[in-house]
Amino acid sequence: MRLGALEAGGTKMVCAIGDETGKIFEQVSIPTETPEITMPKLVEYFKERGVEALGIACFGPIELDKKASNYGSITSTPKIAWRDYNIVKDFEDALHCPIGFDTDVNGSVLGEVTFGQAKGKNCVIYLTIGTGVGGGIYIEGKLLHGMLHPEAGHVLIRKRSDDNYEGKCPYHKTCLEGMTAGPAIEERWGKKAVELTDRPEVWDLEADYIAQALVGYILTLSPEMIILGGGVMHQEQLFPLIRTKVLEMLNDYVQADELKDIDHYIVPASLHDDQGIMGCLELARRALTE
Ligand code: ADP
Ligand code: ZN
Repeated sequence: MRLGALEAGGTKMVCAIGDETGKIFEQVSIPTETPEITMPKLVEYFKERGVEALGIACFGPIELDKKASNYGSITSTPKIAWRDYNIVKDFEDALHCPIGFDTDVNGSVLGEVTFGQAKGKNCVIYLTIGTGVGGGIYIEGKLLHGMLHPEAGHVLIRKRSDDNYEGKCPYHKTCLEGMTAGPAIEERWGKKAVELTDRPEVWDLEADYIAQALVGYILTLSPEMIILGGGVMHQEQLFPLIRTKVLEMLNDYVQADELKDIDHYIVPASLHDDQGIMGCLELARRALTE
């Protein structure tokens, strides 16, 4: 199969051509401007290369309900130029091929389950902690949508008593994203996250809030693996801190073999930052074979 993959992000559009085995033949990155400027470039890329299907993992919120009249649209995004823009429809009209469509983080979890370390698992969460926080959930062969799609980055967490930061989420202030995303770290500590590596108190607090959210996901969804990605998770010292705090917070309530081997339960992404684009290949394959 010759498949197109598009990881549509708020700052860049990663386009690739590959196949159903996850092999990527070529890849480019195009800056995300307005649909008027960016879409013709994307369409040209895929048209020139001839694809049998296209898989799109897209920033959101997006409309995933195939019965909705605006299926395929980016909906209430803060990126005004893209608000209510139907990206799927325009690609269908231009390429005349099946289009697979899902959230960016569902793309990443699909990449990990299909081609990476989570192969064979039934329930997996991929959480990205970067400019924002988002979670993709794979459950029994499918990507979880529910009434809209999960917004796991905005779960509410308990603020630590020694923490005076007011939080950065425009909707909830101190939700997970409002407390742990890169911009929140920068605002709270007055420096970019990458410049705070040698400040243990930064990462202890960060790990505390991430662990709270993971405990909520573990108790609600009973995932077999939790994958943490995104720019902030490049701070590798977070992993042991998060693992320890998750076990402390669970306090032996959940008895599972996975938790006894927590180093292989809460893990970094395994596909060298290609989990998203590889997930798009699988979205395309699924769209073609459905
Ligand atoms: P995006 O979320 O926009 O797709 P990233 O996942 O790269 O992109 O996240 C960008 C955020 O991650 C920024 O807020 C940045 O400060 C933070 N970040 C990037 N690299 C690092 C790093 N090595 N350590 C800590 N934070 C980082
Ligand atoms: Zn929020």
